[in-house]
Amino acid sequence: MDIDGVLLTTKNTKPAQHSTEFIDFILDNYNCYWLTTHCHGDSKQAIKYLTPYFDRTTLNKLELVKPTIWKTLKTEAIEFATDFFWLDDYPFTSEKNILIAHNCLHKLITVNLNRRNELKRVIDVIK
Ligand SMILES: [Mg+2]
Repeated sequence: MDIDGVLLTTKNTKPAQHSTEFIDFILDNYNCYWLTTHCHGDSKQAIKYLTPYFDRTTLNKLELVKPTIWKTLKTEAIEFATDFFWLDDYPFTSEKNILIAHNCLHKLITVNLNRRNELKRVIDVIK
């Protein structure tokens, strides 16, 4: 999962509506990985970035999210043969094309925090 535009709003950065409930749900139900510019192999970097926005209980949960390593495209970090959902607000066309090539486009959930109750919608889609 991405951070900016998924857990945090991109304008006037703040926790997304229902983000705590969303974090509880995904950590309880999925093996979660960071797929964000705030994590390149070390999840401490992501936690440090999130620290001003979430309470200790939520941060403790987020510490269970595993790191990934990628350079140019986030798809570099995806194991296409596995069952996964990729949550992102702004996947590149080049990344989408790679998903299409692997028949995985349906596993991409594009998050739009401008919609009300967006993270509740995402929970409904992935559960
Ligand atoms: Mg983003």
